[in-house]
Amino acid sequence: MPSPPAIADSCTGASAVPEGVPERRALVTGGAGFLGSHLCERLLSEGLRVICMDNLRTGSLENIAHLRDDPDFDYVDHDVTTYIDVPGNLDEIYHFASPASPADFERIPIPILKVGALGTYNSLGLAKAKGARLMLASTSEVYGDPMVHPQPEEYWGNVNPIGIRGVYDEAKRYAEAITMAYHRHHGVDTRIVRIFNTFGPRMRPNDGRMIPNFISQALADEPLTIYGDGSQTRSVQYVNDLIEGIFRLMHSTETRPVNLGNPVEYTVREVAELILEISGSGSEITHNPLPADDPKQRCPDITRAREVLGWEPRFSAREGLEATLRWFAARTIRPWNRSFGR
Ligand code: NAD
Ligand code: UDP
Repeated sequence: MPSPPAIADSCTGASAVPEGVPERRALVTGGAGFLGSHLCERLLSEGLRVICMDNLRTGSLENIAHLRDDPDFDYVDHDVTTYIDVPGNLDEIYHFASPASPADFERIPIPILKVGALGTYNSLGLAKAKGARLMLASTSEVYGDPMVHPQPEEYWGNVNPIGIRGVYDEAKRYAEAITMAYHRHHGVDTRIVRIFNTFGPRMRPNDGRMIPNFISQALADEPLTIYGDGSQTRSVQYVNDLIEGIFRLMHSTETRPVNLGNPVEYTVREVAELILEISGSGSEITHNPLPADDPKQRCPDITRAREVLGWEPRFSAREGLEATLRWFAARTIRPWNRSFGR
């Protein structure tokens, strides 16, 4: 795999910044969330100064506790659906703020619509004012319940605008549309990453998404709740792979949307069985009703990412799940956990 493109010579650490050259600064909206916190960490390790902005709607200060003493890291408590004020220069904006779990689509539909629409609008306005490059965290959900499989970026999707998932899917589709409008009309330098199901440490145990649910249930020796018959498919990607792809995309010249996901496809039942096997849990599997509009299949076509970024996932689902299970187990006080993760 080729090494990631350098951001700039001035990004290799404070001591390497030539006098008179301002340090590069990045803003990560949603930086206290699962993905945002991993991204903040990566940007700091690349020598950027990082402003993490969050309103803690679904994120947590615990996710960034280990970064708080870093002099290059700042946390700002702010709801990005209102005007965003960042004094000083800003070179990169990663707009990652948005709840992402389907469990939240019914719980907090309006905040999801607002952060996708108003939050993206405010972030783009900031990018325009600062001359910063902006990356939008978009999603495989823009393809809805896809009629084309696997999904290439050229596919326009199959979304129910008035269904329960519509609040998230349409907010992200709007976010892509306004990002491209700012790019074409205002000349803002933009990137769009379409993220497919990603998992790893720092997901909330009660997040509601498949992998944290199954892991929490397996660790608690509770039944794993498969929705429907479990024949629907997902392609699950470990967070480290995604962060590498995001970093490469941001520092590439690609302004078209780029899928980032692991193209190895599993049924939901296979994911549940893999988690049971790796954890050694004695949990049963139980079936709950399939939520409305739950996509029947999902798998990224990553040809563009391979060609443009030289990017390829490196972690198998098993490797990623082992690491994630270890992380969850270390936070769960159960007698049998003592043997897991050593
Ligand atoms: P997350 O819920 O852990 O993180 C989202 C963060 O955004 C949280 O810290 C939350 O508090 C913050 N936030 C929400 N509304 C906000 C607002 N109005 N102002 C400021 N902060 C706000 O979810 P995640 O999985 O880390 O997702 C991050 C981004 O990636 C989201 O935009 C999501 O749509 C996108 N995405 C994630 C996945 C995935 O599999 N994890 C897949 C596709 C897209
Ligand atoms: N799912 C499940 N049990 C759970 C949580 C989710 O069977 O406890 C299913 C869900 O119906 C979907 C898949 O797992 O088919 C992935 O769900 P997730 O919430 O992770 O995100 P989605 O890919 O649907 O956005």
